[in-house]
Formats: sequence, structure tokens, C-alpha cells
Amino acid sequence: MGQRRSGKSSIQKVVFHKMPANETLFLESTNKIVKEDITSFIDFQVWDFPGQINYFDSAYDSNMIFGDYGALIFVIDAQDDYIEALNRLHHTVTRAYKVNPDLSFEVFIHKVDALSDEYKIDTQRDIQQRITDELADYDMEHVRLNFYLTSIYDHSIFEAFSKVIQKLIPQLPTLENLLNILCANSGIEKAFLFDVNSKIYIATDSSPVDMQSYEICSDMIDVIVDISEIYGRTNSFRDDFDQSQTDTNGHTGDYGTTTETANDASSLIKLNNGMILCLRGVNRFLALVCLLRSDNFEKHGLIDYNFQCFKEAIADVFELKRRNAERMKHERMG
Ligand code: GDP
Repeated sequence: MGQRRSGKSSIQKVVFHKMPANETLFLESTNKIVKEDITSFIDFQVWDFPGQINYFDSAYDSNMIFGDYGALIFVIDAQDDYIEALNRLHHTVTRAYKVNPDLSFEVFIHKVDALSDEYKIDTQRDIQQRITDELADYDMEHVRLNFYLTSIYDHSIFEAFSKVIQKLIPQLPTLENLLNILCANSGIEKAFLFDVNSKIYIATDSSPVDMQSYEICSDMIDVIVDISEIYGRTNSFRDDFDQSQTDTNGHTGDYGTTTETANDASSLIKLNNGMILCLRGVNRFLALVCLLRSDNFEKHGLIDYNFQCFKEAIADVFELKRRNAERMKHERMG
């Protein structure tokens, strides 16, 4: 949600449709709720709400609209005067919280690409302060809001969306634990489990995320997708992630992808600082991208073995989820 022209449709297009950021300049403004199904490792829906409508008006069923949500993302244009947007945010949070207290409230302070670092921090502080004060006036200081500085012109929008989605994944602690075990036993410095289609990372190990590692790992997905789209035997690594015969023959020392199925996709890039960037396909939707020192990669038989165990564990986690969902469905049907 958010005011008109705050950037909602652009975010959706850039994150879920690979639209280049500068093409969003020509997007038409939306005037009705746009619902979009995202089919991935978990299925979810993204709803884009036009800014000018009041959903708490009696014409709308706010229980239906807000009751089932996992997260409400409110987009604020940081380049514009945001006082009106803050009123709207306050109004939305107070009402939506009454309908669904489990909702997580995520505020994207958006279009920060044009702001200096100092101004970004000041803007965030100002917005955070104003909204916290307003909520306190309504005895709602216990409602937690999360703030992110975002722009479609860099990785920040993917990072923010990743954090929002991660909160909606019940298996997150298990996934993080598996990544920690994999890293500890394979000499891996940092590992991200990515959803290939959206470049959202659904989990990472517990070492701190530094922006540079995240950016380079995220860029690797683009490189591999591009290489396989141009040189792969079938259309694309991304479209056919589960069945593509991606094969960049002729690969040399620096990178190479040879897969029979994209589940087995594998690629390496040696960086000039002695690190290795390594991508492995995990299943139809997910890929593991990790950074490790090249001397640790010498024993890569062990890494291959550990990775295979990791992949089987991930399959078990999602298989369990599917079986639980089926069991619950049967129980409901009596
Ligand atoms: P909506 O009405 O909230 O869906 O807004 P749009 O997605 O149509 O975006 C309105 C304008 O903001 C478009 O011209 C976008 O190109 C621009 N825009 C969106 N995101 C960003 C951003 O991160 N940075 C900048 N500079 N412009 C953006």
C-alpha cells in the first residue's frame, strides 16, 4: 500500500517481472487492487493497492482484505513531502492491527537513490519518530513497525523484500540451521539460499550480511541466467529451472555451467581477491550461492558431498511441509 506514485507497481515489476528500473517511468497508475500469484518454493500472493482508496470504508470488507495477510508493506516516497503518507500509514496501521494483530507492518522508505547518505538517515529517523509518536498518542506503541531504505535502482529493494518474505516462512529457523551446518563444515564464508525467479534470498547463515557479499551473490544469479539464456541448449535457466539442459560448453577456468537438469546446475567464478563464488541448483526454484576462500575449495570433494546432504535436507523440509498441508486438508474434510 502507499500513496499514488510512491512506487508500488514499480517495485512489483522490478522484483517479480525483471523489468529494468528505468522502464518503470512509463508505468500506468493502478486504480484497482491488482492481485498476483507468485508460484515458487512457497506460493504467495502480492496485492497492489491503489493509493487513493480508503479500504476501511464500509464499501470494503476490511476483515476479508486484512484478515488473511502475512505482511503489509507500506511504501513512502522519500523524495516527496511525506506528511500525507504518514497520516495514511498511521490510519492504516491502527485499523489493520485491530482486524489482524498478527500482521507484520513493513515500511519501505522508497526512492532513496537520489538522497545523500546523511539525508537518508535523517529521513528515516524523522519518519520513524513521527509515526512512533503518533502511535503512542493512540496507545499503540506496542505495534512494531519495521523500516527499510529502498530503491529499485540498486539491490536494496531485493534485500528489503527478502527480509519481509523470510518472516513469512515457517521453516526459516530450520533453513538457517542447515546453512550454518553447511558453512561450518565446508569452509564457506557466506551462503545465501535464493529464489532464482525473484532473486529474493529466503535464508542465509547466521554470519552478518554485508551488502557487498549480498550484491555479488545476487549478481551471480543474473550472470548465470544470462549465460544460459544465450548459450544454453533450451530457452533459459530461469524458465526451465527444473528441466533445462543448460550447458555452457566451452567453459574455461573462470566459469562453467554444465547441468543435465538445472537441479544440478553448478557454476564457479574465481574472483581476483582470492575468493570463489559458487552457485549450485537446489531444486526447481532455489539455488545456493556461496562465497569461500579458494584454498578451502581445494578439498571440493567434501564440499560436493556436504552440498548433496544439504540438498536432500532441503527436499525433506519442503516434503514435510507438503505432507503436513495434505494431512491438514484431510482432517478438515473430516
Ligand atoms: P504507484 O502509483 O505507487 O504504483 O507508483 P509507480 O510504480 O507507478 O511509480 C511512480 C514513479 O516513481 C515512476 O515514474 C517510477 O519510475 C518512479 N520510481 C519508482 N521507484 C523508484 C525508485 O526507487 N527511485 C526513483 N528515483 N524513482 C522510482
